[in-house]
Amino acid sequence: MSEFDCIVIGAGLAGLAAARDLQSAGVATLVLEGSDRPGGRVKSDLIDGYRLDHGFQVFNSGYAHIKNTGLLKELGFTPFVQGLIPFRVVGKIASPSDLITPFLRGVFLTNPSQVDHKVRREIYRSFLHGRAGLLRAGAGSFTDALAAPISDIHYGETAHRIDGQSVTTDYATYSARHIVVATDPVTATQLLPEIEVVRMNSSTTWYHISDEPIPNGSRFAVNLHGALINSVAISDIQPSYAPAGKQLFSSTSLNIVSESEIRRDLSNIWGRDTTRWELIGRYEIRQSLPVHPQGKPLYSAVQLDEGLFVIGDHRAYPSQQGAMESGKRAARKIIEREVRERSLNVGNQR
Ligand SMILES: Cc1cc2nc3c(=O)[nH]c(=O)nc-3n(C[C@H](O)[C@H](O)[C@H](O)COP(=O)(O)OP(=O)(O)OC[C@H]3O[C@@H](n4cnc5c(N)ncnc54)[C@H](O)[C@@H]3O)c2cc1C
Repeated sequence: MSEFDCIVIGAGLAGLAAARDLQSAGVATLVLEGSDRPGGRVKSDLIDGYRLDHGFQVFNSGYAHIKNTGLLKELGFTPFVQGLIPFRVVGKIASPSDLITPFLRGVFLTNPSQVDHKVRREIYRSFLHGRAGLLRAGAGSFTDALAAPISDIHYGETAHRIDGQSVTTDYATYSARHIVVATDPVTATQLLPEIEVVRMNSSTTWYHISDEPIPNGSRFAVNLHGALINSVAISDIQPSYAPAGKQLFSSTSLNIVSESEIRRDLSNIWGRDTTRWELIGRYEIRQSLPVHPQGKPLYSAVQLDEGLFVIGDHRAYPSQQGAMESGKRAARKIIEREVRERSLNVGNQR
């Protein structure tokens, strides 16, 4: 007899989306999360009054699963509202693609030509149908709010092994009729050797502060040449990201680079001396986004056998929406099976 109907391993967007649907449908679900809080790659820190997201995370009201939570308004969603193209390109524009490619490098954390066209289409659609923006208390406030109604989440409990219907962690072995692996892609391939290995892109986001106001109309810049791919005066978009009178800049690079290269790029992008800007945070995320190469289907199977599931952005497409979609797909299949078996049991008891 299993202790739970379902165990979800990982409380990132995919695991949270699955656990919410499962618990709402009455499926007894335990969530095991290795870190001390929910969110996975969508987290924020509050340091000396500055909100630092773990990387430049933008919310898009065109993502159905983000929108359908109803949380954007409650969490103070503020869109980028400046003009049709809400960014400024730094560098010599030689062709129309120089306008959009550098922006998309910031979305895919790689050259967009490396990404399957179906993924690019989904992302373009989300930008056409919605608006991109930031949340008042940072990106992590979204995953905190998603996790809030979920009962039975064990934080600081890493799953090490899956044997049939049981999961072994640092502290215990639990059993369930369904097991959902909702970890990052690299851990998923360690827990489930049968799934294919996923290559990951990496990125580093640098946070600098300054006392100077930024020039009007240029708060989001994408960079054609140099180490930084973009730089955003993030507190100018969402003032709650910095104390009054201070300016917080979030800037992203893809390769390992020195801080002096970053400062040189910042001066070029913002047109001022940045030597006195203080570096207050640096998030090097080695496993930022799964590579979704040409030819890979938009969605990979989430069900590996009757009771074993794998979800996350690597089973859909690399995005918040993709991660949540994979979680919802798995939850739907588990709920269907639970409903079927419960009605069979009721029938047998009559
Ligand atoms: C810098 C950056 C910027 C991004 N910007 C955007 C953006 O603007 N828009 C967008 O749509 N997407 C963006 N993304 C992508 C998006 O954040 C991810 O696609 C999504 O968050 C992935 O969610 P997930 O649940 O699949 O995985 P994860 O977030 O990786 O969650 C996995 C969870 O599993 C836990 N875990 C791992 N191993 C174990 C274990 N053994 N036992 C228990 N728990 C475990 C982890 O601690 C983690 O909480 C960005 C990503 C990065 C890194």
